[in-house]
Amino acid sequence: MDTPEAVGSEPFEPFLLPSPQPHVGCDVCSDLVEQWQTARAEGDYSRATDASVLIRRHPHAVGER
Ligand SMILES: [Zn+2]
Repeated sequence: MDTPEAVGSEPFEPFLLPSPQPHVGCDVCSDLVEQWQTARAEGDYSRATDASVLIRRHPHAVGER
């Protein structure tokens, strides 16, 4: 399954997603969550999706796998 073009794209609907799980104690994550909630409340799906993805991909040196 070599589909390099598909890498980085996560097809999902912001509305159907559960709340993103921000890392506890991470200011960046908590800030992104606020952006996500605000964007979602405003119906800005593009921004909501963006924030959700950033939260999911925000790296933490915690060794959580
Ligand atoms: Zn974070």
